[in-house]
Amino acid sequence: MTSLTLELKRPTLAEPVSGPKNLAGLTRPQLQAALVESGVVEPAKAKMRTSQVWRWVHNFGVTDFARMTDIAKDARARLEDHFVLQRPEIVDRQISRDGTRKWLLRFAPGVEAESVFIPGVGRAGALCVSSQVGCTLNCTFCHTGTQALVRNLTAAEIVAQVQVARDDLGEWPSPKEDRRLSNIVFMGMGEPLYNLDNVAAAIDIIADNEGIAISRRRITVSTSGVVPELQALGERTQAMLAISLHATNDALREELVPLNKKYPIAELMAGIRAYPGLANAKRVTFEYVMLKGVNDSPAEAKALVQLLKGIPAKINLIPFNPWPGSPYECSDWGTIEAFAAILNRGGYASPIRTPRGRDILAACGQLKSESEKVRASVRRKAAAADVANG
Ligand code: SAH
Ligand code: SF4
Repeated sequence: MTSLTLELKRPTLAEPVSGPKNLAGLTRPQLQAALVESGVVEPAKAKMRTSQVWRWVHNFGVTDFARMTDIAKDARARLEDHFVLQRPEIVDRQISRDGTRKWLLRFAPGVEAESVFIPGVGRAGALCVSSQVGCTLNCTFCHTGTQALVRNLTAAEIVAQVQVARDDLGEWPSPKEDRRLSNIVFMGMGEPLYNLDNVAAAIDIIADNEGIAISRRRITVSTSGVVPELQALGERTQAMLAISLHATNDALREELVPLNKKYPIAELMAGIRAYPGLANAKRVTFEYVMLKGVNDSPAEAKALVQLLKGIPAKINLIPFNPWPGSPYECSDWGTIEAFAAILNRGGYASPIRTPRGRDILAACGQLKSESEKVRASVRRKAAAADVANG
């Protein structure tokens, strides 16, 4: 399989370790505070100026204060003296034969994560964003799970993934209709519910009507089942919920998703039933990866129908995407179709997710950056040595 690495369109800069503050990913209250605390904006004008800057940053996507034409020249100059509007460095950009695009972004030395744009998913196209670099959970079928957690991504770093995608798709200002990037799914690297503060702040920014304006109903957060955070997720974000289920009994789920030992299936189902706003119009998505000879029998399909009884749900069957050294095989196509037929007869829509971007390792569960935890510790040592050396 071939893939295409294209030249980058714009020069990019890494987040400075120190220096002027980057305004590009702040929440509205943070932006307002930064403008006032710097002395650039008088408190009396704070609200108005915040709205102006907000619109330029999040509706028009500008990275240059000079383009903020409704702000007086001297005020723009002061903004420029104190702040920057920066994107992370794009380390790699690939386009699959099927149109899927994948970016590897570097947020800081050794802190890299991937995001993937998949055309034809959701209303028009979905961006799959990462919430952590690496993951603390070790689901046995997932490539990210083989990578130790480096750190949580900040809200700004999550929003930056959307901004980079929109730069690349040429989608500024926010189109009223006919968007290419219409949906956001937190299905990249990491467990979003272990980073809920940043995920919730990022969703506030992404959903803001005067900015990127992707509605909360088009934002889906996928979790491997961190039950105690489900209620807070619903209340704080009003996002759509997706659950990585993958098995219908505890013994098998513990093997595939070790977090199941902490939060077994019965607790998980109770948490889901209590998810705020659950209704036929706001269904939970259950993700079920199809592993040959492991979880793909007709009996398991029937058990799945039983398990989900009474929950407004749809089931996404995900053909297993292999990665170098992965211990499983994908179920045969006929087996997947037979499994889907049983779910359909049980009253559940169960689309089979066509693997996208497999040629560039951009499909579900194939994401992995080279950032490793060990590098973080080496970095800390190096930083400590720097300090010690004055
Ligand atoms: N950590 C979160 C979100 C990221 S994973 C979670 O687990 O839900 C996004 C989806 O891809 C999850 O449903 C995950 O189980 C699935 N997945 C992981 N590895 C996969 C693989 N190799 N093939 C297919 N799907 C995979
Ligand atoms: Fe982490 Fe999700 Fe992968 Fe499990 S499937 S290891 S929770 S990213």
